[in-house]
Parts: sequence; structure tokens; C-alpha cells
Amino acid sequence: MLNYRANEDYLDKKIILITGAGDGIGKQAALEFAKYGATIILLGKTVKKLESVYDQIVNNGGNEPAIVPLDLKGATKQHYIDMGNTIIDQFGRLDGLVHNASFVGHLGPFGQMTEEDWHAVFQVNVHSQFLMTQGLLPALKKSAQASVIFTSSGLGVKGRAYWGAYSISKFATQGMMQVLADEYEHSSIRFNCINPGPTRTNMRAVAFPEEDPKQIKSPAEIMTPYLYLMDNVASQDNGQTLQAQ
Ligand code: NDP
Repeated sequence: MLNYRANEDYLDKKIILITGAGDGIGKQAALEFAKYGATIILLGKTVKKLESVYDQIVNNGGNEPAIVPLDLKGATKQHYIDMGNTIIDQFGRLDGLVHNASFVGHLGPFGQMTEEDWHAVFQVNVHSQFLMTQGLLPALKKSAQASVIFTSSGLGVKGRAYWGAYSISKFATQGMMQVLADEYEHSSIRFNCINPGPTRTNMRAVAFPEEDPKQIKSPAEIMTPYLYLMDNVASQDNGQTLQAQ
């Protein structure tokens, strides 16, 4: 995978939805996929950020993206059903879905974690992924080859003190991906995870204020597995967790 080189326009005519597309890794993935010809559905919380990514894609000569302003914290099952129906109406299908947005929440001792903290993190990192995947399955099934990417973390492989709900939610993300990959093994949809590794974003800066951002990779430097998993050459990859670093 690390030697993978994307061919020009290899995502031509592909429709890809990215959550948390306004900033960090999700924004970079949106710009990259658009560069290779995809039409991007930009989903996120802050409309201004989504509009800025929209402008960058259009200014770079990419296809006109769609913007879906949605706070995953408050979204209901009906939001995702409506989203799936709108995508089918407007685009006919969904070829790619990147579950990228997530919420770190309050870091601290397990004994002091409140129910509110727990629910808020699980709502964004797990529950919304469950409902969104379910709501978008009909659109994904209409693609000849669809790729769904979840975003894991080293903290979803080995739990770490004081990372409570976030760390546990990343185990759940990994589990959801594996359940789906097994269930859809003989279908046209593949499900995989990417662990980005330490990456220079706002989330990272808030979680690791003592870290020198210059010492870690930028989102642009970790894009290879994202580009690879969206490519039909990865059609046999299912149930995998790729390390971006
Ligand atoms: P950023 O904070 O830079 O970007 C996260 C994006 O998700 C933002 O655009 C944010 O929107 C959006 N988002 C957050 N909460 C919601 C919500 N409730 N509803 C809709 N959108 C929301 O984070 P990263 O790019 O660093 O992280 C991307 C993924 O990578 C996450 O899943 C993270 O867990 C994972 N990861 C990151 C690592 C790192 O070192 N950066 C390491 C390991 C994993 P807005 O800007 O509007 O708030």
C-alpha cells in the first residue's frame, strides 16, 4: 500500500461523502479526492469551514461539491434516512463514505467521567456512525464498488489512562467496521479502517498541547491509505486497519 500511486482522474464520477470535512484530516481527504476527479459531499458542523473547502475545490478546478451542515451530536435516524434518499435522488448512488469526524470530549480519571461526557463522545464517535451507515447503505448498494472508511486510533487498540470515552469509542469503531466487513464480505461494499497516527490538526493540538507540531506529520503527508482505499484496486481489502504512518 505504501508504494501505491493514484492514477490521474481515477476517482472520476465517484461520489464520496466525508464527515468532518471542514478541517484537519477530513478537509485534506476532500481536497485530495476532488483533485482525482471525485464529487465530494462535505459534511460538518461549521458551515464557514465547509464553504472554504468548497471554494478551494472549485478554485482548483474540481467538481462542484455538495455541503451538508450537520452536527452529529444532535442528528437523528431520520436525518440519515433523508440524507440517503437525497443522495440517491441527486447522484444516484454513493461510492465512498469516510467516517472521519470525532469528538475527544473531557480527558481525565475514569472515576470522574460523567454520564454526559460519556454520552456526548459515544453519540458523535459511535452512535452517529451506526445510524449514518445504516441510512446510507441503500445508496452504497447502488454503487458498483463502494468503499467505507472508518477512522481508528492507536487508543482503539490499546486503552490509555485518562482517555476514557474517546479511547473506548475507538475500540467500538474498530468493532463496527469488522462486523460490517464480515457481514458484507460477499457484496460490492468494502469496509476498512485507517489509523492516521499523530497528525498536525486542531484536535491534536488541543489533546497534546506540550507536543511540537513541527515534529509530526501534516494531513497532506498521510493521504496514501485514503487514496488507496477509495481505488477499485483495493476491492479485495475488507476488514483491514491500515496504518497511515
Ligand atoms: P480535527 O479536529 O482537525 O477535525 C475534525 C473535524 O470533525 C472538524 O471539521 C469538526 O468540525 C468535525 N466534527 C467534530 N465534531 C463534529 C460533530 N459533532 N458534527 C459534525 N462534525 C464534527 O480532527 P482530526 O482531523 O485530527 O481528526 C480526524 C479523525 O482522525 C478523528 O476521527 C480522530 O479521532 C482521528 N485521529 C486523529 C489523530 C491526530 O493525531 N490528529 C490521531 C488518531 C486518530 P468543526 O471544525 O466544525 O468543529
